[in-house]
Amino acid sequence: MAELDRPQAEVAVPDDWTYASAPESRDIVHIADRYGHFVGGEWLDAAETYETIAPRDEEPLAAVGQGSEADVGRAVAAARDAYADGWSSLPGSERAKYLFRIARLLQERSREFAVLESLNGGKPIKESRDVDLPLAAAHFFYYAGWADKLEYAFPNRRPRPVGVAGQIIPWNFPLLMLAWKVAPALACGNTVVLKPAETTPLTALLFCDVLRQAELPAGVVNIVTGDGRTGAALVVNEEVDKVAFTGSTEVGKEIQRRLAGTGKKLTLELGGKAANIVFDDAALDQAVEGIVNGIYFNQGHVCCAGSRLFVQESIYEPLVAKLERRLATLRVGDPLDKNTDVGAINSAAQLEKIEELVASGVEEGAQIYQPPCILPEKGYWFAPTVFTNVAQSYRIAQEEIFGPVLSVLTFRTPEEAVEKANNTPYGLSAGVWTEKGSRILWMAQRLRAGVVWANTFNRFDPSSPFGGYKESGFGREGGRHGLEPYLDFEESETFGG
Ligand code: NDP
Repeated sequence: MAELDRPQAEVAVPDDWTYASAPESRDIVHIADRYGHFVGGEWLDAAETYETIAPRDEEPLAAVGQGSEADVGRAVAAARDAYADGWSSLPGSERAKYLFRIARLLQERSREFAVLESLNGGKPIKESRDVDLPLAAAHFFYYAGWADKLEYAFPNRRPRPVGVAGQIIPWNFPLLMLAWKVAPALACGNTVVLKPAETTPLTALLFCDVLRQAELPAGVVNIVTGDGRTGAALVVNEEVDKVAFTGSTEVGKEIQRRLAGTGKKLTLELGGKAANIVFDDAALDQAVEGIVNGIYFNQGHVCCAGSRLFVQESIYEPLVAKLERRLATLRVGDPLDKNTDVGAINSAAQLEKIEELVASGVEEGAQIYQPPCILPEKGYWFAPTVFTNVAQSYRIAQEEIFGPVLSVLTFRTPEEAVEKANNTPYGLSAGVWTEKGSRILWMAQRLRAGVVWANTFNRFDPSSPFGGYKESGFGREGGRHGLEPYLDFEESETFGG
């Protein structure tokens, strides 16, 4: 007893358990003051430029070319020459060598690319380091493997390249979207003109240095930076044979209208409003992690984000309580800090859009929860947000917010979950959380979504096709399916011939 009564020695107990900052060094990457366009293996000076910034603090990073119609024309001509000068007729095994080299170089330089991606786009370094870069390299590895096996991928169909591909990518996964587009195009023997998003051009411009290191023949990949006008010029250029676009449904529709009747091939990967559906037999803690990953990963700037959470009524209260507790542990802040979970919003325009939609949710009667967090004063920031008491008709349940904002709705039966989940113009992805395999299959057959994840969310693999239904677009990227948009086929005259 005497032991227990003895006064404890005074031990200093810290009253602040927050993580010390662990910033990644930005010195690892060199950013030039000014960039032109990468055309025919050379840097073409840009007559007009704009400033690209870091969304974390609005620091100007570089002057970047605003591509004109003439710049696009030069890039397309360079791609056409490279196509005719040998790239399209190079044996697949030779094309594969270049793709393997690019993949390995991306791995070797991954830290540099990850820092630049986080700096220019605002995403947490742990995501660009652990997701964007490994996946980008994996896409090049994967499609390198297909380059000399196209005859086997499409037996009896005599695949041949399409020609010059015009590719337009968004700002949420800049390098990864580049890899999704460039790797299959090159594997199939096409040449490319790519336009990165206006706010995130820097990793695409650094990628030009990887192309130089890989000794890719001049003109096979050309990069023209600029805003939507540059993209529009690329779409309508008559020498472009195939257009691949990822971005908003609005611009996708505009591109489809423009290309109607031209005979150009087109794939569109557009917006989404995914349902993440949790049944009462799901492992709740695991589901909470999946929900958080589904909507707060990359600040919710994800076309397949699980932005509508459907919870079976009987577990609504415990699940929402767990979710709110978990939200309070998310660290929002400097994208270059290795502890950061939620980084900066990509641009002032996107922040404005998120704020407007969130205000509409409050006005329409939903209940908002945001964990206490101190947001940096400079830059573009938005706290992780959960809306409960949401009706299906509210704008926050209908429109793509593309930010860290979750709407929680409820259901009673699997039939009701399917009906509510499918009640959207989009159809890109969905998630199902249940311990019953039979229910997963039953749901997957009925959900109108290109991808259905079960007991996980936001899982990507180069061998798995990705794409949408309805207003989420058409065509598939990834997997063997992702080769098809970059090929024309001559059907064999004789069966098996
Ligand atoms: P956009 O659809 O405008 O941008 C996607 C790409 O298309 C960018 O490179 C853009 O250039 C380019 N572009 C813009 N206008 C045209 C045009 N007329 N012809 C050809 N290319 C064009 O998306 P935003 O960046 O404006 O984002 C708006 C909303 O779109 C977001 O809030 C989000 O809801 C959704 N979105 C969805 C994405 C997805 O992956 N599904 C990705 C990005 C956005 P520039 O960057 O210069 O505008």
